[in-house]
Amino acid sequence: MTRAQIPSIDRLLQSAEARDLIARYGREMVVDALRDAAAALRTLARSDAPVPSTGTGHDHAILVIAQAAAERLRELTVPSLRPVFNLTGTVLHTNLGRAPLPAAALSAIAAVATAASNLEYSLDQGQRGDRDDHVAAWLTRLTGAEAATVVNNNAAAVMLVLHTFARRRAVIVSRGELVEIGGSFRIPEVMAAAGAQLREVGTTNRVHFRDYESAIDARTGLIMKIHTSNYRIEGFTATVGERELAALAKRVGVPFVNDLGSGTLVNFARHGLPHEPTVQDAITAGADLVTFSGDKLLGGPQAGIIAGRAELIKKLKKNPMTRALRVDKLTLAALGATLALYADSERAMQAIPALRLLTRPAAEIEACARALVAPMAAALGDLAEIDVTPCMSQIGSGALPVETLPSFGLRIRPATSRSSSRAVETLAAHFRTLPKPVIGRIHQGALILDLRCLEDVEDFIAQLNALQAPRKRSG
Ligand SMILES: *Cc1c(COP(=O)(O)O)cnc(C)c1O
Repeated sequence: MTRAQIPSIDRLLQSAEARDLIARYGREMVVDALRDAAAALRTLARSDAPVPSTGTGHDHAILVIAQAAAERLRELTVPSLRPVFNLTGTVLHTNLGRAPLPAAALSAIAAVATAASNLEYSLDQGQRGDRDDHVAAWLTRLTGAEAATVVNNNAAAVMLVLHTFARRRAVIVSRGELVEIGGSFRIPEVMAAAGAQLREVGTTNRVHFRDYESAIDARTGLIMKIHTSNYRIEGFTATVGERELAALAKRVGVPFVNDLGSGTLVNFARHGLPHEPTVQDAITAGADLVTFSGDKLLGGPQAGIIAGRAELIKKLKKNPMTRALRVDKLTLAALGATLALYADSERAMQAIPALRLLTRPAAEIEACARALVAPMAAALGDLAEIDVTPCMSQIGSGALPVETLPSFGLRIRPATSRSSSRAVETLAAHFRTLPKPVIGRIHQGALILDLRCLEDVEDFIAQLNALQAPRKRSG
């Protein structure tokens, strides 16, 4: 093919191929894509490099350009945010969207998403209402708190509490609780951003009641306890109980705030999971305010929940920052539907995917792994060797950092003579190019797919044959 044979844009746009593309993607996108593809072909023709065609003539050039444009348009219009298979073994994976929503939450979102709703409208009184009303009744019922409000996420909840009660004042926190959660959320920095002064007490491993007591002065705005959700201090340690801190705060007239982070509503120990403090326990132990996430152990949408004493919640809601931190109707719909599932805690364990996956029996996961060996081997051919391996899942999102859950997975080892780490990286990358990308973890030269979170087995198997495709395409 020569440069002279590359048709003009006008000529390209008249072709049947271009008309099909325009019907799908719209004229502007197609013009751009055809122009780019034609320019690329022109460059190739000039450089004497082999042009990807042995044919000649206009018609052939049109086909080549239209195909390149179609591929480019397909790439451009694949949604950037899309579902993946989370086979990392970390159930609540922050980078992979944390909790999958229950079906009931999805229906609730759909119901209010495309129509008007009573988001801030009281149907009883025919006048302006409060968006928190859609979830407050469930939250107070389930946590035992007097009142509750919801903001964008738990970081926002902590920020709002500090800004409301401790701006230009001091916050007493144990030195052992100055957590960093995922890079940008570091307690000392959050305090500074909220205009509060951090007053650390105790040492890294030990803090005593007298440390808190002697730190109190006229500037004290609140006493705070932070759940050390992603690490644990063990050995020679001492902490002060929540009841004692609550009593001390009450004596000096400041709020006692407990940032629980994950904040579960069910007693984990009763379901064979490691113990995690519940929101109810924190309220019972005397916290004036408790903050926790909606999309960690609760298993709902991203949200930050603040539950506690009614007069404090009222003050929070008067802070102009709440307007900037508030949640939208989709979040409230999903949260309300998720909370309603907790009315029956047995049902919650099954209907809320996060809880169902965390309590999934290892034997069931193993059976799933065994059933997948053959289809996986068939799909991979001679690319890799596959077997079933026991592994350990993590809860994730900083919840229960030390404990792991026994699980099973597929171990996939690249079939190369030198077992290079490059080969297993390539294999992992290969799985990420699937229509619904598969994300595993690399361990000792193998790609491990922990099957705890794989429930949609048919979908998973159906796309495996595409694993061979990249080899064909590049050939
Ligand atoms: C996760 C966590 C946060 C932040 O919550 P997000 O919902 O991620 O904003 C704050 N405090 C603690 C203790 C946490 O575990």
